Parts: sequence; structure tokens; C-alpha cells
Amino acid sequence: MRYEELSAEQALSAAKDPGSIFIIPVGSVEQHCGGPLGTDLMIAEGVAEAACEHLTSSEFKCYMMPAIGYGLSAEWSLAPGTVSLSLSTFEGLIEDVVRGLLRLGAKSVVIVNGHYGNSPAIEAALRELMRELPHDAVILQVNYWEALGIDVGHASEAEAEVMRALGYNVNFGRCGCEASPSPRGAKVYVRPPRPRHS
Ligand SMILES: [Zn+2]
Repeated sequence: MRYEELSAEQALSAAKDPGSIFIIPVGSVEQHCGGPLGTDLMIAEGVAEAACEHLTSSEFKCYMMPAIGYGLSAEWSLAPGTVSLSLSTFEGLIEDVVRGLLRLGAKSVVIVNGHYGNSPAIEAALRELMRELPHDAVILQVNYWEALGIDVGHASEAEAEVMRALGYNVNFGRCGCEASPSPRGAKVYVRPPRPRHS
């Protein structure tokens, strides 16, 4: 069920029902070589929808929130088509959307994240919110690649496989903008690459 289609009264009674789960897909709009800019958003929405369908067929009721489509894509900021939020905007969005649901009375909120670069900021935002959480409320952050136990690189064959499984026929190809590999246990921060085709 899509949250935006509920009336205010229906949303209130959904929040009061302890079996209700509210899912927020979070993506990014950034270059994916020859594939769609919204790949991470499409995956987050697809995974969230599948989870919602699955939950709704059990004893739970699941509500799909309008997605947060933009994310943190500083690493591809020089690539054409990328639209990235600033850190404070992104964290504020996460906090405000979750806060809105908590104010309604929601007790179970799940964030399904489709973009690697978003994860530390989502975690930081949710940690901030812990202070104001009601005792009986739970928020879950799910990075879909961790939930699937796979290592999805950027615009990789693994990511294309996930897209195909969701019904999108994509081929990322190669565009010279592969992410630089991280040495074990370290994260690498360098100036964002300018893809060869730009
Ligand atoms: Zn991606």
C-alpha cells in the first residue's frame, strides 16, 4: 500500500496498528556509466516493494513511503547527470521524514538504502533520532547489498544482475569511471574522477 494514497485518518489508524511497518526507500541520482542515473533509487524502490508485498502477505501491514530519491554522490559530482545533496540537507531529510512518521505514532520504520555513499549519513541521522524515540518504536536501516550478502560495486555486473532481477534490462558497459578499490580496512577519499566520455 502506498502511503501517499492514504487519507489522514487512514494513516493515523495505520500508525496505531502494532502490525504496521513503514518503509522508506532511499536512493541516489548519479552516473552509472551507460545505465540509468537512478539505478540506486530504482533498486531501493524495487527491494522495498518486494519486501512490502512479502510482509503484507504475512500478519503485517506494510506501507511504502514516497522515496527519498537523491542522495550523497560527491564521488560522482563531476560526472554529467549527477545530482547530489549536501550532507546537512540529506541528514535533515532522513531525520524529518522519520520524525514525521514517529509523530503520527508509527512504531516500526524501515529505511531501505540503495546507495553505498548514503549509509554513514543515514546511520548518523538515525543515531541522532535515538534520543527522541518512544520506548516502543524501532527504526531499521537496511543496506540492500548487506541484506543480500553480496558485494555490489558501482555500475558493476552484480548491480546489473540486481536490476535485471527487478525487471530492468540494463547494461552499464564501461566508461572509465570505476570506483577506486579500497585497501582492506581503509576508506579512500580522493578528488572525484571525470568520466572519459564527458
Ligand atoms: Zn549504484
